[in-house]
Amino acid sequence: MMTTSRTRYHVGMNEIGLDPVYRIECLADFDGARAWLTGNVENTTEDVQDPSEFDALLDRLARTPDAQIVGEYAVDAYVFWVRAVEDCGCPCDCAERGEECDPRHNREAAAEPELTDPDEHGRSVFRFDGVPYTVFNTSGRDLDGYWAVERVPAESPALPSRDYVLVGQRTREHAFTLAVEKLRPSRHITFLPQRYSTVTMSEDDRDYDEYPHVTRDGWVCAWSTAGYVVVFEDRVQRGIVWPGHPVEASVTRDDGTALDIKGEWRFFEQAAAAVRDHVLTARV
Ligand SMILES: [Zn+2]
Ligand SMILES: [Zn+2]
Repeated sequence: MMTTSRTRYHVGMNEIGLDPVYRIECLADFDGARAWLTGNVENTTEDVQDPSEFDALLDRLARTPDAQIVGEYAVDAYVFWVRAVEDCGCPCDCAERGEECDPRHNREAAAEPELTDPDEHGRSVFRFDGVPYTVFNTSGRDLDGYWAVERVPAESPALPSRDYVLVGQRTREHAFTLAVEKLRPSRHITFLPQRYSTVTMSEDDRDYDEYPHVTRDGWVCAWSTAGYVVVFEDRVQRGIVWPGHPVEASVTRDDGTALDIKGEWRFFEQAAAAVRDHVLTARV
């Protein structure tokens, strides 16, 4: 198996039939995956009555070639596992807190978002990569079709503006699931806020202002004031997305021509992720 920067290894363990309680690690290569897997088995061995089965697994792992280490290993009441994941986008401390890192960016795997039970006002909460969101009903009751998801504003002395991810969803659970789908591409792409044309501008200024000018590197999505979205990689246009029903997208070839790509996208963010995926896959 080729190890590209898009493939990483999630390594963890759980008691059979239960959710993992210990840290799940997101690792760049087989060496890291093997070390974490072996460490999990060794640590568990210390807590069990009869370590013989665990020792047998450690022997087996030592003889397993790197490329075959991906898989599940059940011993006693436990299952140890290594999963190959593509583009998981687990956030790394170096990006979040500017901490020192090495090129492998080994880190804790991002937890899957979980929705809390509603509080007395009917609001429930989930976190996506550390940021809290609330799910609530805009009617104030549990009315189908009025479920919304809002980013919880950071504490600020000024009255915060509302930051909705979604409104008008059928059920609480549905709103939560869709919001996570919509947020997922933001692990790889920075989405700049929508811009609108200013009516007071001269026509020349408006034409100049229509196309977004991006000043940052990486994958960035920026709005044209004409209502489409440009997907940039390191400030070079890689594609265009037209939000709407349906969402449409094209990849910008090196010669500047457009290649339409097909997909069933509920959100324009997903189409932008598809543009990135197309470009990166074509490059391998
Ligand atoms: Zn990961
Ligand atoms: Zn890092």
